[in-house]
Amino acid sequence: MIKNYAEVAVEEMFDRLLKEHLKKEPDTCTCEQCREDMKALALNNIPPHYVVTEKGAILKQVGFDLIGGKAQVTSAILTAIQTVGASPRHR
Ligand SMILES: [Zn+2]
Repeated sequence: MIKNYAEVAVEEMFDRLLKEHLKKEPDTCTCEQCREDMKALALNNIPPHYVVTEKGAILKQVGFDLIGGKAQVTSAILTAIQTVGASPRHR
């Protein structure tokens, strides 16, 4: 299976960062579409790094150094949450 580390990292960190953001901006929409938009936008700003895994294997350790570093990934996700949160597509 081909996996993108960046996607694994976003899946892993997104919910926690969104929850943090909601403490400051409780009005942020968290519907399915907005969450997908936020993840897609974040991924467009994180360099991809593809790896091949055994079928069904779960990547436990994300190599953050391969995708720009954890701080970069965190900031890409937070920026995406703010951007989509400020102007959701469905409003
Ligand atoms: Zn929404």
